[in-house]
Amino acid sequence: MDGNRGLHYEENLLWEKEYSDHPGVDLPPVEITSLRTGQDARETIGLPQLSEPQVLRHFVRMSTWNYSIDHGFFPLGSCTMKHNPRLNEKLARLKGFAHIHPMQSESTVQGALELMHELQSWLGELTGLPGVCLTPAAGAHGELAGVMTIRRAHEVNGQAQRKIILTPDSSHGTNPATAVMCGFEVRSMPTSETGCLSVEVFKEALYKTDPNGADIAGMMVTNPNTCGLFEKEILEISKLLHDAGGYFYCDGANFNALVGKVRPADFGVDVMHINLHKTFSTPHGGGGPGSGPICCTEELAKYMPVPNVVKEDDGSYRRETMEDRPTSLGTLKAFQGQFGMHVRALSYMKSHGADGLKQVSEDAVLNANYILRSLCDDYHAPYADNGPCMHEALLTDKKQKQHDVTTLDIAKALVEYGYHPMTVYFPLVLPGTMLIEPTETESKDSIDRFVTTMKKIAQDAQEGKAEEFHNFPQSTPRKRLDEVKAARQPTLSWKHVA
Ligand SMILES: *Cc1c(COP(=O)(O)O)cnc(C)c1O
Repeated sequence: MDGNRGLHYEENLLWEKEYSDHPGVDLPPVEITSLRTGQDARETIGLPQLSEPQVLRHFVRMSTWNYSIDHGFFPLGSCTMKHNPRLNEKLARLKGFAHIHPMQSESTVQGALELMHELQSWLGELTGLPGVCLTPAAGAHGELAGVMTIRRAHEVNGQAQRKIILTPDSSHGTNPATAVMCGFEVRSMPTSETGCLSVEVFKEALYKTDPNGADIAGMMVTNPNTCGLFEKEILEISKLLHDAGGYFYCDGANFNALVGKVRPADFGVDVMHINLHKTFSTPHGGGGPGSGPICCTEELAKYMPVPNVVKEDDGSYRRETMEDRPTSLGTLKAFQGQFGMHVRALSYMKSHGADGLKQVSEDAVLNANYILRSLCDDYHAPYADNGPCMHEALLTDKKQKQHDVTTLDIAKALVEYGYHPMTVYFPLVLPGTMLIEPTETESKDSIDRFVTTMKKIAQDAQEGKAEEFHNFPQSTPRKRLDEVKAARQPTLSWKHVA
C-alpha cells in the first residue's frame, strides 16, 4: 500500500517500491573493462530504483510518525522529556561551532575549548564536584566512566579486593548492568514501604559478608530516586559507606529535581554523571545524541578519563593528555565527546542563570505534585501519604486491576487519546507502576488536559469498560502488537519475494 489513509500513512520499505523497469537515476553508460566489485555486483547489491521525489516523500512521511516533545505532552518518567529552547539550537548552529573539527589545531579552536572549560566549571559548581570529564556520550556511558573511575581508585589504593556494588531495587537497569560490566558483583537493597532506602536495610547489605564492609567497592544510588522521592537518610547512609571505604556513585539522571537547590557533593556523592540531554534540555529520544559528563571529587579526579580542557597561565586552553595525568584510567571515547551538546547545555545554563536554574527545579517539582494530588483519589498513589514527591509522580494500577484494566491498558488508552504514555512497569518496586514526569516546561493547561484524560480513563475502568480497554488503541495504523514476540523474534531483514 502506498499513500495515505486519513492522516495515517502506510509506508512500504524503499525496496518494496522498486520498479526495475524504470530506473530512478539515468547514469551515462560507462566503458568497463573489469568490475572491481565482481561481475554480479549490481544484482547482489539490489539497490531500489526510485526517483528523487519518491525517496523524499518516503522519508518525509516517516519523519511525521515520530511522536516527540514538539508534538505534545510527553510525561515519560525518569527520561525528562522537556522542551529544548530553540536558542540552544541557534547557538549550536553558529558556524564557528558547527563547522570545526576535533583534528584541528588547538590554536584555531580556542573559543570551543573555552566553552568546554566554562561548562566544566558550571557543572563543577552546580554539583560541588570539581573534577569534570565531558567525554561520555550518554548517561549509561557516564556510569561506565564513573564506575571505572571508582575501580581505578581502588586498584591504585591496593583495594582491588572490593568487589561488591550496592544498589537499591528501584535503580535504573543501567546501574547494575554497569557494575557487572566493570567486573563487580551487584548486591540489591530492597526499597522500604516509604519508597526510600532505610539505614537498617543499608547496614544489612553493607556488612553482610564482611563485618567492616571491606569488600564493598561502592554504591550506585540516584537521588531523588526512581520513585520520585528524596532519599531522606542519605547523609547517614553515605557516611556509613565512606567509613567502610566505599565510594558513592550518584546516578544523576534526576538532577533536574535538585539543580540550583542542592549540591550532590553535600549529601556525600563522590562521582556522578549528568544527563545533559535531560537536565539541561538538549534534545534526545530520536531528537539528538546524548551527553553524560561525569563530575567527581578532587580525590577521584586523578583517575577519571582523559582528556578534559585545562586553562594555561597565559589564558589559552588545551586538551590534557595522559602525560598531564598519568593516574587516569585512559581514554574512553574519541576526542572530546558530543561538542554540539556542550554548546546547547551551556546556552541553557547561561540563559537561565543561577536563579533560573533554581526555578527550573522548583517548577518541575511543583508540576509533578500538582499531578500527584490531582490523581491520587483516582489511582493508587503508594507514597502520597508520606508527603510531596520530587519531579515525578508514582501511581499504580491497583484500583483499576480490580476491574480487569492494567497499566498496559491505561498506556494504550493514552495512545488512543493522543498522548505519549508515561513510563510503565518501572521502577520494579511495586506491581503495575506508572511514573509520570511532566517537567517544568508544561503549561497548567496542558497538564490539566492530561489529568482530565487520566480521570476519564479511571472512570471508564470503574464503569466496567475493560473490553474496550483491551482493544485500545483503535485509531492508529497498528493496533495491539505482540510485543513479546517483537522483542524475542524481531524480523530485522527484508527478503525480496519475486
Ligand atoms: C535515562 C537514565 C539513565 C541512562 O541515561 P542514558 O542517557 O539514556 O544512557 C540512567 N539512569 C536513570 C535513572 C535514567 O533515567
